[in-house]
Amino acid sequence: HYAKNQGRNNFQLYNPEVHSQKRENLIINELKQAVSKEELSLYFQPKITVKSMQAEEAEVLLRWNSEKLGMISPGEFIPIAEKNGLIVEISEYVLRSAFKQLKEWEDTEFPICCLAINISPVHFQYGNIYQMLVGLIEDYQVDPSKVELEITETSVMKNIDQAVQTLESLRELGFRIALDDFGTGLSSLNYLQQLPIDTLKIDRTFVNDLDQDTTKQAIVKTVIQLANHLGAKVTVEGVETKQQAHMLQLLHCDHLQGYYFYKPMPCRQLEKVCDGEKVHM
Ligand code: C2E
Ligand code: MG
Ligand code: MG
Ligand code: MG
Repeated sequence: HYAKNQGRNNFQLYNPEVHSQKRENLIINELKQAVSKEELSLYFQPKITVKSMQAEEAEVLLRWNSEKLGMISPGEFIPIAEKNGLIVEISEYVLRSAFKQLKEWEDTEFPICCLAINISPVHFQYGNIYQMLVGLIEDYQVDPSKVELEITETSVMKNIDQAVQTLESLRELGFRIALDDFGTGLSSLNYLQQLPIDTLKIDRTFVNDLDQDTTKQAIVKTVIQLANHLGAKVTVEGVETKQQAHMLQLLHCDHLQGYYFYKPMPCRQLEKVCDGEKVHM
């Protein structure tokens, strides 16, 4: 009826901006009910500890199977949720579910030692992330050192002083802090030296072609040196081939993550993967 209202030969129906606005509205409507309808679930992508060559940690990645719209990737719905504030409720759902899972593993002596959780810049800057996490520690009695919070450069750029303060108080609680997608934002080495971080997570754009591209090799090498200097560990995401994995191992990265090892998977599958067996390359 939209086209009819606009008259014949109306190009607006085919205007990609209008289309994407329509889709965005659809997504907002469905997303508002996604938590209560239990359409969101947590997937886990194992990270390999290079020293032991075992899967000992995992990153939590959100999945949304909408009754009306089907599977929608976080790359699409997270930015929309950030625009209208829905992200805080979603973020709380992710954090609560992850803490619940850690508690369950602790009770069953499951060997997984750490979960990395992505924190939206919007939640980090405007939601009360600190209070939320304090509440979750109380509710689940989980050791915060088992949680690594993945923040991005966007989270800290606008107000570096406040970001440093928040990160320091989170670290005092025992959380580990990772800087995600490192190298893709408007990186400034100036703020990097101020940030209290435990892990630098090198973006996957530096990994594709790594085995052929000597400039990328130099960048990765330099970032590892820099991280060492800052006392931070290095995780590399997006490892897709044996050659890349081998090269990154030689460069002394601490953790490797990517489709070459494991894709994101449901919880029950993760429990089978983190069984203390060495991963063969
Ligand atoms: P990210 O945190 O940088 O996560 C890495 C993304 O790369 C994930 O996509 C993962 O599935 C994908 N990936 C992992 N290994 C490989 C590989 O070897 N090759 C390629 N091509 N891709 C790989 P996903 O799950 O679609 O998530 C996309 C982004 O959405 C995440 O980027 C993160 O920024 C955001 N996101 C996901 N879950 C959450 C969440 O619970 N909260 C928040 N705030 N953001 C989330
Ligand atoms: Mg991440
Ligand atoms: Mg990343
Ligand atoms: Mg990324």
